[in-house]
Amino acid sequence: MTLCPEQLAQALTTWQQRLRLVDWDITAEIKPGTGEEWGSVVTFPEKKRATITLLDPQNVTPAEANNQDHERTLIHELLHIPTLQFYNCEDHDDPKFIMYEQFIHQTSCALVGLARVINEERPPS
Ligand SMILES: [Zn+2]
Repeated sequence: MTLCPEQLAQALTTWQQRLRLVDWDITAEIKPGTGEEWGSVVTFPEKKRATITLLDPQNVTPAEANNQDHERTLIHELLHIPTLQFYNCEDHDDPKFIMYEQFIHQTSCALVGLARVINEERPPS
């Protein structure tokens, strides 16, 4: 599931509130990339500022297109913001870093899945 810029802005507002990150100045944008990463986040903790980048669907191969989920990736990158102090490591082969990334990934999958179930169960207004 991919988002247009307007949907991304709405999703950022929603998830920033849900994850109690409203005191952060966070921007999110969809940008071309190599297709190796669904997204990334750059943080400036001293300024409580962060920039999230999500991969442009045009840079995703057809085989991978069904796996792209902008909302899940947005949540993943947002979850990095309050947890960066837990494990901030440049060595991406470090088993602890891999475990940290897996935890962030699993949590983002659970949160987006729950949000969608709740949306489906909500009676139409
Ligand atoms: Zn990550």
